[in-house]
Amino acid sequence: MRRSSVQSGWGAPVLLHRNTEEGVHMSQDQFPHESFDDLLAANSEYQKTFKYSELTGSAAKGLAIVTCMDSRINPLSVVGMRSGDAKILRNAGARVTEDVLRTLVLATYLLNVNRILVMPHTDCAMARGDEAAIHKLIDDKYGVNTSSLEFRTTNDQVGALASDINRVRSYPLLRDGVVVAGAIYDVKTGKITPYEG
Ligand SMILES: [Zn+2]
Repeated sequence: MRRSSVQSGWGAPVLLHRNTEEGVHMSQDQFPHESFDDLLAANSEYQKTFKYSELTGSAAKGLAIVTCMDSRINPLSVVGMRSGDAKILRNAGARVTEDVLRTLVLATYLLNVNRILVMPHTDCAMARGDEAAIHKLIDDKYGVNTSSLEFRTTNDQVGALASDINRVRSYPLLRDGVVVAGAIYDVKTGKITPYEG
């Protein structure tokens, strides 16, 4: 395969794959339709009844939710919100990371957020496997060593929630007066149980 490079603007060159006699190779700037055409089709339908053009980027209900990437959670529906109402921050395990804090600083100063709910959930894989087991699982299955990453698993989900709530509350750069709470979402019933400390 022949490759050429262009400056990306960030220092490192970006490799471009060109068509060669070996066949057609995917260029990095091509949209992989075979993987995403169902989304484009759905979006065509979505546009027909689109009703959010009046919204701004501010959180209309002053809420931010920090929750897990688990696909069973629809964070807005869980608490009776809809598009425009809340900021949703998601990652594996609903953990308060540096990036979550960075985002909350912007959300609280500039995007009307005045209350933050940290919402992990039942049956979360991040709350049952130990860190080493997850690294080993990926290594066994794919032969990739991920030990340079910290997945932030825990075997004490409530303890981790308490610590994460405290981490947000004590973060010195967060706007004064922001209220922080925690709750655990039950993926079997849809109920959220407030963490009472
Ligand atoms: Zn989860």
